[in-house]
Amino acid sequence: MRLDLLIRGALLVDGTGAPPRTADVGVAGGRFAVLPAGSGADARETLDAAGLAVAPGFIDVHTHSDGIALLGGDRELVRAPVLAGVTAEICGNCGSGLFPALPGRVPELRAEASVGFGGDVGFWEDFAGFAAAHAAVPRANHLASLVGHGTLRAGVLGSVDRPATPAELATMCSLLDRSLAQGAAGLSTGLIYTPGTYADTDEVVALARVAARHGKPYVTHLRDEMSRVEEALEEAVEIARRSGAALHVSHHKTAGKYAWGRTERTLPRLARLRAEGFDVTCDVYPYTAASTHLSAMLPPWASDGGTAALTARLADPGQRDRMRAAIAEGVPGWENTVGNGGWDRIAIARAPRHPHTEGRTVAELASAHGRDPFDVAADLLLAERGEVMIISHSMVEDDVRRVLAAPYAMIGSDGVPKPGGRPHPRWAGTFPRVLGRYTRDLGLLDLATAVRKMTGLAAERFGLAGRGTIADGAHADLVVFDPATVGDGATFAEPLLPPKGVHTVVVAGQVVVRQGEETAARPGKVLTP
Ligand SMILES: [Zn+2]
Repeated sequence: MRLDLLIRGALLVDGTGAPPRTADVGVAGGRFAVLPAGSGADARETLDAAGLAVAPGFIDVHTHSDGIALLGGDRELVRAPVLAGVTAEICGNCGSGLFPALPGRVPELRAEASVGFGGDVGFWEDFAGFAAAHAAVPRANHLASLVGHGTLRAGVLGSVDRPATPAELATMCSLLDRSLAQGAAGLSTGLIYTPGTYADTDEVVALARVAARHGKPYVTHLRDEMSRVEEALEEAVEIARRSGAALHVSHHKTAGKYAWGRTERTLPRLARLRAEGFDVTCDVYPYTAASTHLSAMLPPWASDGGTAALTARLADPGQRDRMRAAIAEGVPGWENTVGNGGWDRIAIARAPRHPHTEGRTVAELASAHGRDPFDVAADLLLAERGEVMIISHSMVEDDVRRVLAAPYAMIGSDGVPKPGGRPHPRWAGTFPRVLGRYTRDLGLLDLATAVRKMTGLAAERFGLAGRGTIADGAHADLVVFDPATVGDGATFAEPLLPPKGVHTVVVAGQVVVRQGEETAARPGKVLTP
């Protein structure tokens, strides 16, 4: 048999966690053939990979890349994860996506999505519509999507602060059921974000039961990752227990000065649950800074009714004073990021009409003009019509390391690719950073374990059959990198700089990165676990 591609003499890190060994890896018809080293197999293209490692392509289990490929044009953003070895992205996280909705709500949701995803990206009634739109856009790597609960809720009730009626909840369950049947990968929530935060535990249990029926996970950005993170984790455990769904905790962290060190309690809790047979996993990104919307710094009632209602309130001095007081005093059940840290930890990442603010903290901007930081944030949000991204320097390194080292933690970038601005470097840097800094330099993980967290573990959790390991007959998504030099190039100042040491990336048997440069191949598909 003549192979399409032979990777000769590489250190094979196969994604199962097994010790690396030297082997030849062949690719034919989009599938792997593992051969003994020195096989001498015949191939159309041969890569002499002595001294390099070959691993399954990385699966980024946590992205917000729902819209970027549909916007078109921004190759630098679309290319960044591919250059880092990511061969599949899972979007629709944190309760937020581009489907589903009742048909009558699609125009309203499309307008909200245009704010959230940085341009008119479209909006669909179900996963099939979303998948068809993506399938029509050539892409280098694969994409899978969760069903976002916040989007689903807005797609039935609108962005309103009230419980769902039984009829509305039944409609939500049926829309979710349809999208999961069409191939969406699970249910996600973002319980700090509006409108997801307006839902009580029972509502999420009812939806998670639908995911459980499909054998798909309940994936959650907890209701609080700061001072009340343990209570929020228990809510997630309750939802999984009552619904029967597997639990996946998104970007696990214990952030803000009142929760630093709390992973010493949350991780043993998760380990005990697993020891009891409870199916729980998590993901993590290798940075002490988070990134989100500036509007998430405001109390939930500020966004009741959607973006137009938020900007109307920001323009009203009385409503502003209520928000200022809520941040100073807290609101029961609300994760108050600024109250847990301060405006000096919040840097502007993206404000398209005010680029001079990007990279500076709200506290810096305020003191430069002798103003109250809350007013600076409120004015900026108003002038940007509700859409400003921030970077929040809210974590400590010890917590990040403890989560990375947990055996059930996989890697997810939480990247939020939107045109312009100065985004968090995690979109481009996460995977090479784990391999370089945390594996080679700090020795926190061995190479086989690090690769498993990026591949096999992720494929198992999200039902990506035939992916995540290098084995005979598996889908030929792979990355060749140099363990001695691999590392992140992206920084907070230059967040899209390419990584070091990532040599070749193959998707569906086609070379999409050769010697660190993107090729013209676009074999990526929408995956339907
Ligand atoms: Zn999130």
